[in-house]
Amino acid sequence: MQNVIGPMMSTPREFGSFQTAMAAVERIWGIMDEEMEDHPPQPMLAFPSVPQRTVIDFHQVSYTYANGSRALEQVSFSVPMGSTVALVGPSGAGKSTLFKLLLGLYEPTSGVITLNGQSIQARYAQVLRQQIAYVPQETFLFSGTIRDNIRQGAFAATDEEIVQAAIDANAHDFIASLPHGYDTEVGERAMRLSGGQRQRIAIARALLKDAPILLLDEATSALDTQSEQVIQEALHRLMKGRTTLSIAHRLSTVIHADYVYVLDKGHVVEQGTHESLFKNGQLYAELYRAQFQGARHAFPAPAFHR
Ligand code: ATP
Repeated sequence: MQNVIGPMMSTPREFGSFQTAMAAVERIWGIMDEEMEDHPPQPMLAFPSVPQRTVIDFHQVSYTYANGSRALEQVSFSVPMGSTVALVGPSGAGKSTLFKLLLGLYEPTSGVITLNGQSIQARYAQVLRQQIAYVPQETFLFSGTIRDNIRQGAFAATDEEIVQAAIDANAHDFIASLPHGYDTEVGERAMRLSGGQRQRIAIARALLKDAPILLLDEATSALDTQSEQVIQEALHRLMKGRTTLSIAHRLSTVIHADYVYVLDKGHVVEQGTHESLFKNGQLYAELYRAQFQGARHAFPAPAFHR
């Protein structure tokens, strides 16, 4: 995998930006699948301390970048099957690094990450690809039609399935109103869609993929209340029945999460529900005031704020 990922991640111009590279994960996974043929899956690694119904497990995971930046240090946490878990933390806490490791873009410097009990390593790339749908912060659209872009979620999908995914992602109406509908060319040199429209394309892709695990990197940019509601509605449909891990920038996400992990300087420093963390009055409460409070008007305030 190092041979495949290393060069891709170190040539940002090829992809324009890191976000673009992240959005190309599906394609990278395609390459990794080919590599799989040389590396058949190994038997599952067993950790006796890990409950069986956890889907994602970080077991004392550390990651240090080549320049010596220690992004994650001895991070351990679990995401139980069917749960919604939110990651919050200040800038530089290590949230994106954690996702990069989960997506198989980098390998931990030490420690082990397991997905359904299997270690995430290059030779499990196919398992990774099948199990995870990833909705990035910035949706990258490849040059091609809107239909082609949604089809990235499942290359064998029929046109009807693509339309259904777009309906569920609240994207069908705006697509249908374009002069060429699903055949509209998008991408860098063609029609430019708004951030909210691109996000809905990403949600349609993920719906079409129908993977059991969802990684959601929420957009930090504020949308107007109406667009926000349309996207939240689509996200709720996408999250239903799946195990979700999200980098949360929205108050509604942390309120609705079953559990929240707070990262700071590469460590998990707090964990609990939104209510319990808020009552603790530590970093989460500070972050809540700084990051989420401005959004309170858009979402119901938790009971203890009234
Ligand atoms: P943000 O909310 O701003 O995206 P984050 O919590 O996602 O921050 P990371 O991007 O994971 O944090 O960064 C964790 C640490 O690793 C930071 O100190 C950051 O400077 C460093 N880092 C991130 N990417 C790289 C890189 N490609 N090379 C070197 N250091 C990096």
